[in-house]
Amino acid sequence: MQEAMINKAKQLLADGTVDRVIGWKRGEFAYDITPAVFETAEELVADFVYDDFTSANVSKYLVKESRKEGRILAFLKPCDTYSFNQLIKEHRVVRENVYIVGIPGGPKLDAEKIKAKGITGILSVKNDNYTLKIDTIYGEETMPFYEAVLDKCASCKSKKHVIYDELMGEEGDVLDSNRFDMVEKLENMTAQERFEFWREQLSKCIRCNACRNVCPACTCEKCVFDNPDSGIENKAPSDSFEENMFHIIRAFHVAGRCTDCGECSRVCPQNIPLHLLNRKFIKDINAFYGEYQAGEDIVSRAPLNEYKQDDCEAGIVHERGVE
Ligand code: SF4
Ligand code: SF4
Ligand code: SF4
Repeated sequence: MQEAMINKAKQLLADGTVDRVIGWKRGEFAYDITPAVFETAEELVADFVYDDFTSANVSKYLVKESRKEGRILAFLKPCDTYSFNQLIKEHRVVRENVYIVGIPGGPKLDAEKIKAKGITGILSVKNDNYTLKIDTIYGEETMPFYEAVLDKCASCKSKKHVIYDELMGEEGDVLDSNRFDMVEKLENMTAQERFEFWREQLSKCIRCNACRNVCPACTCEKCVFDNPDSGIENKAPSDSFEENMFHIIRAFHVAGRCTDCGECSRVCPQNIPLHLLNRKFIKDINAFYGEYQAGEDIVSRAPLNEYKQDDCEAGIVHERGVE
């Protein structure tokens, strides 16, 4: 796939369809793949990477990139197209300045899950009939493929691209996902158990802001958490109130706009399952206002952005018996 993508990018640069390409390049380690912009065929051949560790969603980068001169090619996985659509809907990207090539998605791999098996010095990986063969500086190791899959891919909601200019590979379908299973488990806990679960998780937060910075729904030019008068500007939380507050406020800000891309949890250095907070909102929005998937299209009104006379009342939460 990587070779075909490089050839596609070279062709679109050569025929003038695009002026730049956003893709990914390798960092210090084999699994350290980060978004990068390429301007020439030579740069693409030298550094462009698309492999089992290429999971970063480049949609958010297009907020800035699409406002620059010229047109940029973006390779978007199915999940990434939901983020891009949502950004169009919110007028955060200039659609005509982006040429979208839809590419097949994952499942992508989580290097931390491989390392958790005691496997280090990773050089490359290969999926051999669902056994992951890992070439390391110490020799070859193996583990079951699905035990190394990123959480966001393990609960994939769709293999279908919701926006593109052209597609590479086969188009997929919206999936019958298990993504609300863990939310249901949390709902079935007592209030005290749930509080303890979230305190244990959020107490690990070092306020690195990676979750906010990667989130395609967090595109405010001035974020409330960067306000120098707030007393909480860019600093590690000093107590449990501040730990909770950052996450609860951010979850409310992205409610109804979060496409469930899973990037917040993927980048968290403390492995906090942040997406579960947002999934709770998604699940409740579905239950209270009817099925709604942010990013699915660019025309529908989001349930939290409009008022209908038969909208549910907040009291419905208590009627459902939630503690
Ligand atoms: S990425 Fe993780 S550690 Fe960093 S601010 Fe977000 S929750 Fe906290
Ligand atoms: S809150 Fe997390 S899952 Fe939702 S859009 Fe932002 S990064 Fe993606
Ligand atoms: S946390 Fe709120 S204010 Fe900050 S970038 Fe996200 S949506 Fe905007």
